[in-house]
Amino acid sequence: MQEKPVAVVTGGVRGIGRAIAEELVEEGYHVVVTYCNSEGQAEKMRELFRNKVDIKRADVSNQDEVDTLFNDIMEHYGRLDVLVNNAGITQDKTFHKMGANEWHQVIDVNLNGTFYCCNRAIPVMREKNFGRIINISSIVGQKGNFGQANYAASKAGMLGLTKTLALENAVKGITVNAICPGFIETDMVSAIPDEVKTKIQDEIPMKRFGTAREVARAVRFLASRDAAYITGQELNINGGLLTH
Ligand code: NAD
Repeated sequence: MQEKPVAVVTGGVRGIGRAIAEELVEEGYHVVVTYCNSEGQAEKMRELFRNKVDIKRADVSNQDEVDTLFNDIMEHYGRLDVLVNNAGITQDKTFHKMGANEWHQVIDVNLNGTFYCCNRAIPVMREKNFGRIINISSIVGQKGNFGQANYAASKAGMLGLTKTLALENAVKGITVNAICPGFIETDMVSAIPDEVKTKIQDEIPMKRFGTAREVARAVRFLASRDAAYITGQELNINGGLLTH
Protein backbone atom coordinates (compact mmCIF):
# COMPACT_ATOMS: atom_id res chain seq x y z
CA MET A 1 0.00 0.00 0.00
CA GLN A 2 1.30 3.43 -1.00
CA GLU A 3 2.06 5.55 2.10
CA LYS A 4 1.46 8.87 0.39
CA PRO A 5 -2.15 9.77 -0.47
CA VAL A 6 -2.94 9.01 -4.11
CA ALA A 7 -4.57 11.52 -6.45
CA VAL A 8 -5.80 10.89 -9.99
CA VAL A 9 -5.97 13.80 -12.44
CA THR A 10 -7.57 13.00 -15.78
CA GLY A 11 -6.20 14.83 -18.84
CA GLY A 12 -3.29 16.08 -16.76
CA VAL A 13 -0.34 16.35 -19.14
CA ARG A 14 -1.02 19.91 -20.23
CA GLY A 15 -3.04 23.03 -19.39
CA ILE A 16 -5.12 23.16 -16.22
CA GLY A 17 -4.68 19.43 -15.50
CA ARG A 18 -0.92 19.69 -15.56
CA ALA A 19 -0.93 22.64 -13.14
CA ILE A 20 -3.26 20.64 -10.85
CA ALA A 21 -0.89 17.66 -10.96
CA GLU A 22 2.05 19.92 -10.06
CA GLU A 23 0.19 21.46 -7.12
CA LEU A 24 -0.80 18.04 -5.78
CA VAL A 25 2.78 16.75 -6.08
CA GLU A 26 3.92 19.78 -4.08
CA GLU A 27 1.27 18.99 -1.47
CA GLY A 28 2.75 15.51 -1.02
CA TYR A 29 0.44 13.32 -3.11
CA HIS A 30 1.50 10.52 -5.36
CA VAL A 31 -0.22 11.67 -8.55
CA VAL A 32 -1.54 9.51 -11.37
CA VAL A 33 -2.09 11.55 -14.49
CA THR A 34 -3.99 10.31 -17.52
CA TYR A 35 -3.89 11.48 -21.10
CA CYS A 36 -5.46 10.41 -24.37
CA ASN A 37 -3.70 11.74 -27.48
CA SER A 38 -1.01 14.06 -26.10
CA GLU A 39 1.84 11.50 -26.36
CA GLY A 40 4.60 14.15 -26.73
CA GLN A 41 3.44 16.15 -23.72
CA ALA A 42 3.09 12.91 -21.71
CA GLU A 43 6.70 11.98 -22.48
CA LYS A 44 7.98 15.42 -21.48
CA MET A 45 6.13 15.20 -18.19
CA ARG A 46 7.42 11.68 -17.56
CA GLU A 47 11.01 12.95 -17.82
CA LEU A 48 10.37 15.97 -15.60
CA PHE A 49 8.46 14.16 -12.83
CA ARG A 50 10.17 10.79 -12.68
CA ASN A 51 9.00 8.84 -9.58
CA LYS A 52 6.60 11.58 -8.51
CA VAL A 53 3.92 11.28 -11.17
CA ASP A 54 2.63 8.15 -12.82
CA ILE A 55 1.52 8.93 -16.39
CA LYS A 56 -0.95 6.53 -17.94
CA ARG A 57 -2.78 6.51 -21.24
CA ALA A 58 -6.53 6.12 -20.71
CA ASP A 59 -9.34 7.50 -22.82
CA VAL A 60 -11.92 8.55 -20.21
CA SER A 61 -14.74 8.12 -22.71
CA ASN A 62 -13.96 4.41 -22.91
CA GLN A 63 -15.33 2.52 -19.90
CA ASP A 64 -12.99 -0.46 -20.38
CA GLU A 65 -9.92 1.79 -20.39
CA VAL A 66 -11.14 3.57 -17.25
CA ASP A 67 -11.73 0.20 -15.57
CA THR A 68 -8.20 -0.92 -16.46
CA LEU A 69 -6.81 2.37 -15.11
CA PHE A 70 -8.54 2.03 -11.74
CA ASN A 71 -7.71 -1.69 -11.48
CA ASP A 72 -4.03 -0.79 -12.02
CA ILE A 73 -4.15 1.98 -9.42
CA MET A 74 -5.69 -0.27 -6.78
CA GLU A 75 -3.30 -3.10 -7.59
CA HIS A 76 -0.21 -0.87 -7.44
CA TYR A 77 -1.10 1.58 -4.70
CA GLY A 78 -4.02 0.05 -2.82
CA ARG A 79 -5.61 3.43 -2.22
CA LEU A 80 -7.29 6.37 -3.90
CA ASP A 81 -7.78 9.62 -2.00
CA VAL A 82 -8.47 12.31 -4.60
CA LEU A 83 -10.06 12.25 -8.06
CA VAL A 84 -9.94 15.32 -10.28
CA ASN A 85 -12.11 14.99 -13.38
CA ASN A 86 -10.34 17.45 -15.62
CA ALA A 87 -10.23 15.80 -19.09
CA GLY A 88 -12.40 17.78 -21.45
CA ILE A 89 -12.88 18.67 -25.11
CA THR A 90 -14.84 21.11 -27.24
CA GLN A 91 -16.39 20.61 -30.69
CA ASP A 92 -18.00 23.99 -31.34
CA LYS A 93 -20.82 24.62 -33.81
CA THR A 94 -24.07 26.53 -33.59
CA PHE A 95 -26.82 24.09 -32.71
CA HIS A 96 -28.60 24.17 -36.08
CA LYS A 97 -25.35 22.99 -37.71
CA MET A 98 -24.39 20.49 -35.01
CA GLY A 99 -24.53 16.81 -35.84
CA ALA A 100 -25.04 13.90 -33.46
CA ASN A 101 -21.31 13.17 -33.81
CA GLU A 102 -20.19 16.45 -32.25
CA TRP A 103 -22.87 16.08 -29.59
CA HIS A 104 -21.87 12.55 -28.58
CA GLN A 105 -18.09 13.11 -28.67
CA VAL A 106 -18.27 15.99 -26.20
CA ILE A 107 -20.81 14.32 -23.90
CA ASP A 108 -18.78 11.07 -24.02
CA VAL A 109 -15.54 12.69 -22.84
CA ASN A 110 -16.75 15.45 -20.52
CA LEU A 111 -19.81 13.88 -18.88
CA ASN A 112 -19.66 10.12 -19.44
CA GLY A 113 -15.91 10.16 -18.70
CA THR A 114 -16.64 11.83 -15.37
CA PHE A 115 -19.30 9.20 -14.66
CA TYR A 116 -16.96 6.27 -15.44
CA CYS A 117 -14.22 7.66 -13.15
CA CYS A 118 -16.61 8.52 -10.28
CA ASN A 119 -18.26 5.14 -10.68
CA ARG A 120 -14.93 3.44 -9.90
CA ALA A 121 -13.65 5.94 -7.31
CA ILE A 122 -16.74 6.23 -5.10
CA PRO A 123 -16.87 2.59 -3.88
CA VAL A 124 -13.16 2.70 -2.92
CA MET A 125 -13.61 6.01 -1.11
CA ARG A 126 -16.77 4.81 0.68
CA GLU A 127 -14.86 1.83 2.00
CA LYS A 128 -12.16 4.13 3.44
CA ASN A 129 -14.64 6.75 4.73
CA PHE A 130 -12.60 9.41 3.00
CA GLY A 131 -12.39 10.96 -0.43
CA ARG A 132 -12.23 14.15 -2.41
CA ILE A 133 -13.74 14.51 -5.87
CA ILE A 134 -13.25 17.74 -7.80
CA ASN A 135 -14.99 18.12 -11.14
CA ILE A 136 -13.69 20.74 -13.54
CA SER A 137 -16.89 22.12 -15.02
CA SER A 138 -17.12 25.57 -16.66
CA ILE A 139 -18.84 28.94 -16.58
CA VAL A 140 -20.38 27.72 -19.85
CA GLY A 141 -22.28 25.04 -17.91
CA GLN A 142 -23.74 27.78 -15.73
CA LYS A 143 -24.81 30.29 -18.35
CA GLY A 144 -24.57 28.64 -21.81
CA ASN A 145 -22.45 29.92 -24.68
CA PHE A 146 -23.00 30.61 -28.34
CA GLY A 147 -21.82 27.63 -30.44
CA GLN A 148 -21.32 25.36 -27.46
CA ALA A 149 -24.65 23.57 -26.83
CA ASN A 150 -22.85 20.21 -26.50
CA TYR A 151 -20.13 21.57 -24.20
CA ALA A 152 -22.61 23.57 -22.09
CA ALA A 153 -24.84 20.51 -21.65
CA SER A 154 -21.87 18.35 -20.65
CA LYS A 155 -20.59 20.89 -18.12
CA ALA A 156 -24.08 21.54 -16.68
CA GLY A 157 -24.47 17.75 -16.40
CA MET A 158 -21.27 17.66 -14.35
CA LEU A 159 -22.80 20.15 -11.93
CA GLY A 160 -25.90 17.99 -11.37
CA LEU A 161 -23.72 14.94 -10.88
CA THR A 162 -21.49 16.84 -8.42
CA LYS A 163 -24.41 17.92 -6.23
CA THR A 164 -26.03 14.48 -6.17
CA LEU A 165 -22.78 12.66 -5.37
CA ALA A 166 -22.15 15.22 -2.61
CA LEU A 167 -25.51 14.44 -1.01
CA GLU A 168 -25.20 10.67 -1.33
CA ASN A 169 -21.65 10.46 0.05
CA ALA A 170 -21.42 13.24 2.66
CA VAL A 171 -21.95 10.78 5.49
CA LYS A 172 -18.99 8.72 4.23
CA GLY A 173 -16.44 11.54 4.56
CA ILE A 174 -16.36 12.14 0.82
CA THR A 175 -16.66 15.68 -0.50
CA VAL A 176 -17.64 16.35 -4.11
CA ASN A 177 -17.25 19.83 -5.54
CA ALA A 178 -17.11 21.51 -8.93
CA ILE A 179 -14.89 24.29 -10.14
CA CYS A 180 -16.29 26.57 -12.82
CA PRO A 181 -13.46 28.38 -14.55
CA GLY A 182 -14.16 31.33 -16.82
CA PHE A 183 -11.54 31.90 -19.51
CA ILE A 184 -8.18 30.38 -18.60
CA GLU A 185 -5.01 30.74 -20.72
CA THR A 186 -4.50 27.23 -22.14
CA ASP A 187 -4.48 25.49 -25.54
CA MET A 188 -8.29 25.36 -25.34
CA VAL A 189 -8.50 29.18 -25.22
CA SER A 190 -5.61 29.84 -27.64
CA ALA A 191 -7.85 28.34 -30.33
CA ILE A 192 -10.11 31.44 -30.06
CA PRO A 193 -9.36 34.07 -32.75
CA ASP A 194 -7.44 37.15 -31.45
CA GLU A 195 -10.19 39.68 -32.14
CA VAL A 196 -12.72 37.52 -30.23
CA LYS A 197 -10.22 37.16 -27.35
CA THR A 198 -9.87 40.95 -27.06
CA LYS A 199 -13.65 41.31 -26.99
CA ILE A 200 -13.98 38.66 -24.27
CA GLN A 201 -11.23 40.23 -22.15
CA ASP A 202 -13.02 43.55 -22.36
CA GLU A 203 -16.14 41.95 -20.85
CA ILE A 204 -14.22 40.39 -17.94
CA PRO A 205 -14.27 42.74 -14.92
CA MET A 206 -10.57 41.88 -14.24
CA LYS A 207 -9.74 42.54 -17.93
CA ARG A 208 -7.61 39.40 -18.24
CA PHE A 209 -7.84 35.63 -18.61
CA GLY A 210 -7.11 33.46 -15.59
CA THR A 211 -4.10 31.17 -15.29
CA ALA A 212 -4.02 27.41 -14.93
CA ARG A 213 -2.17 27.95 -11.63
CA GLU A 214 -5.11 29.98 -10.24
CA VAL A 215 -7.44 27.04 -10.89
CA ALA A 216 -4.93 24.48 -9.60
CA ARG A 217 -4.48 26.27 -6.27
CA ALA A 218 -8.23 26.05 -5.66
CA VAL A 219 -8.18 22.32 -6.44
CA ARG A 220 -5.31 21.90 -3.99
CA PHE A 221 -7.40 23.56 -1.28
CA LEU A 222 -10.58 21.57 -2.03
CA ALA A 223 -8.54 18.35 -1.91
CA SER A 224 -7.13 19.20 1.51
CA ARG A 225 -8.43 18.21 4.94
CA ASP A 226 -9.06 21.95 5.58
CA ALA A 227 -11.91 21.79 3.05
CA ALA A 228 -13.71 18.97 4.92
CA TYR A 229 -16.95 20.95 5.40
CA ILE A 230 -17.25 22.11 1.79
CA THR A 231 -19.30 19.81 -0.43
CA GLY A 232 -21.76 20.08 -3.30
CA GLN A 233 -20.44 23.52 -4.23
CA GLU A 234 -19.64 25.33 -7.46
CA LEU A 235 -16.50 27.43 -7.06
CA ASN A 236 -16.33 30.17 -9.66
CA ILE A 237 -12.89 31.23 -10.91
CA ASN A 238 -13.80 33.71 -13.58
CA GLY A 239 -12.41 37.19 -12.84
CA GLY A 240 -15.93 38.39 -12.00
CA LEU A 241 -17.49 37.41 -15.34
CA LEU A 242 -20.40 35.71 -13.57
CA THR A 243 -21.35 36.47 -9.97
CA HIS A 244 -23.78 34.26 -8.13
P1 NAD B 1 -6.59 21.32 -22.73
O1 NAD B 1 -7.22 21.06 -24.04
O2 NAD B 1 -5.29 22.06 -22.66
O3 NAD B 1 -6.44 19.98 -21.88
C1 NAD B 1 -7.42 19.00 -21.88
C2 NAD B 1 -6.78 17.71 -21.45
O4 NAD B 1 -7.76 16.66 -21.55
C3 NAD B 1 -5.60 17.29 -22.33
O5 NAD B 1 -4.55 16.83 -21.50
C4 NAD B 1 -6.16 16.13 -23.16
O6 NAD B 1 -5.17 15.15 -23.49
C5 NAD B 1 -7.17 15.54 -22.19
N1 NAD B 1 -8.20 14.75 -22.86
C6 NAD B 1 -8.97 15.10 -23.90
N2 NAD B 1 -9.77 14.07 -24.25
C7 NAD B 1 -9.49 13.05 -23.40
C8 NAD B 1 -9.97 11.73 -23.26
N3 NAD B 1 -10.92 11.24 -24.05
N4 NAD B 1 -9.46 10.97 -22.26
C9 NAD B 1 -8.48 11.43 -21.46
N5 NAD B 1 -7.99 12.69 -21.55
C10 NAD B 1 -8.48 13.47 -22.52
O7 NAD B 1 -7.71 22.07 -21.91
P2 NAD B 1 -7.67 22.93 -20.56
O8 NAD B 1 -7.98 24.32 -20.94
O9 NAD B 1 -6.50 22.63 -19.73
O10 NAD B 1 -9.00 22.33 -19.88
C11 NAD B 1 -9.02 21.44 -18.78
C12 NAD B 1 -10.45 21.35 -18.28
O11 NAD B 1 -10.89 22.63 -17.87
C13 NAD B 1 -11.44 20.87 -19.35
O12 NAD B 1 -12.39 20.02 -18.75
C14 NAD B 1 -12.11 22.16 -19.78
O13 NAD B 1 -13.39 21.92 -20.27
C15 NAD B 1 -12.12 22.94 -18.50
N6 NAD B 1 -12.23 24.38 -18.67
C16 NAD B 1 -11.27 25.07 -19.36
C17 NAD B 1 -11.41 26.44 -19.51
C18 NAD B 1 -10.38 27.29 -20.23
O14 NAD B 1 -10.64 28.46 -20.40
N7 NAD B 1 -9.25 26.76 -20.60
C19 NAD B 1 -12.53 27.08 -19.00
C20 NAD B 1 -13.49 26.35 -18.32
C21 NAD B 1 -13.32 25.00 -18.17
